[in-house]
Amino acid sequence: MLSADSITFGFRRDRPVLREVSLAVSPGRVTALVGPNGSGKTTLLRLLAGLLSPLGGGVRLEGRPVAAWIPAERARRLAYVPQRSGVAFGYSVIDVTRFGLVEAGRGESGSAERALERVGLIDRAHEPFGHLSIGQQQRASLARALAQIRVGSGPAVLLADEPVSAMDPRHAVASLGLIRGLAEPGRETDRHVGVLVVLHDLSLAARFADDAVLLDESGRIAHVGPVGDVLEPARLESVFGIGFARVEAAETPPAIVPLGRAGPEPDRRLPGP
Ligand code: ADP
Repeated sequence: MLSADSITFGFRRDRPVLREVSLAVSPGRVTALVGPNGSGKTTLLRLLAGLLSPLGGGVRLEGRPVAAWIPAERARRLAYVPQRSGVAFGYSVIDVTRFGLVEAGRGESGSAERALERVGLIDRAHEPFGHLSIGQQQRASLARALAQIRVGSGPAVLLADEPVSAMDPRHAVASLGLIRGLAEPGRETDRHVGVLVVLHDLSLAARFADDAVLLDESGRIAHVGPVGDVLEPARLESVFGIGFARVEAAETPPAIVPLGRAGPEPDRRLPGP
């Protein structure tokens, strides 16, 4: 399990980004992390991945401070899909998919290819990564994490930062299905995987997550709990400053639709220059 205990962070001490954030990423559960732009979602994922150090509080992976792990040992337990792949020019799609295996220090031959098959990109394996569309690059980044998680045994964690933001609806649903499958042992892997995924599409969050964490603009947790409770229109309005409707449909999870009406002033004003 990965847990954050009352973490506080700012890139400058006089400008806090996250305040007293506590959460747990538990095996077998998918948690959606939602909140306005700039509320600290990416920063929180980087702290959880051990790429940043909190100013206060701590992050523990299987009970040990996340930064104390040897990188390859950590990579066998924790995969991180960043918002932007940051891949240097010249790598092919299969190279990028293998990066996760390299980080984790081993992996069966053919596992990168199998992961590319899962995301429907095996026919693009030997093209330059930079030639893929952004949505396709996101699918390759997911393949990289799938291959990485198949290395090793025991519980694992996936942190994914807006992994489907540029995908068309079919691929977004398929990719979140793969991510959901990681949390259900026997579907994508025998490991018990806990997932924390940043999503802006609240309907997708309602459909694929068990729980949700809603961050507000000040970098505090506004609400945490079962996804249906957290993504309740009144709670969303208090954080995003616009109204939402929950549209119930037979046999599918509800759609959560932004209505676009601004909430009352003055709380909703954007900060000045
Ligand atoms: P979110 O992912 O919720 O949109 P971020 O975590 O990316 O938010 O950013 C939270 C805040 O931290 C923003 O105000 C952003 O400008 C600031 N920030 C993010 N990265 C840096 C950085 N490397 N240096 C300085 N400020 C940063």
